[in-house]
Amino acid sequence: MRTRDKTQAHPNFVEQFRQFLQSGGLRLTSERLVILEQVFSYEGHFQAEDLLVHIREKGYSASRATIYRTLPLLVRSGLLTEIIDARKNTYYEHVHALQEQQHAHLICLRCNKIIEFTNPEIDKLQKEICDLNQFKPIKFRNEILGYCGECQAEDR
Ligand SMILES: [Zn+2]
Ligand SMILES: [Zn+2]
Repeated sequence: MRTRDKTQAHPNFVEQFRQFLQSGGLRLTSERLVILEQVFSYEGHFQAEDLLVHIREKGYSASRATIYRTLPLLVRSGLLTEIIDARKNTYYEHVHALQEQQHAHLICLRCNKIIEFTNPEIDKLQKEICDLNQFKPIKFRNEILGYCGECQAEDR
């Protein structure tokens, strides 16, 4: 029936989300499952409205309200990264592995460009800080706000 949509969330992701929901007394409804799977078929950064369009284009139905309520749950479950840009717009992107290397974002306050970077030293330091505080990290969120090279050049 839904064979035309080949993109499926990895079973581990589905399981992680199911367990997360269960711990909060919530169920993995078919609507939440559709949202989870479509989140994982969306490559790159997206906003809730982009996902709504994406879901409708694929021929699924999920209400706007459910999408807006489910995205923060996916963030808290560690499956989705939340990025808040300089204009306070919220963007999301799915993780690629349960223990993936974290990437951080440089967000330009002027043109809203989002640059990604990874740095194993930063990852290591953050883990050390968590250990020191006996803190169990689920997701790291690194955002640096500032001005990209192009925007700095325009100021001159
Ligand atoms: Zn810029
Ligand atoms: Zn990113």
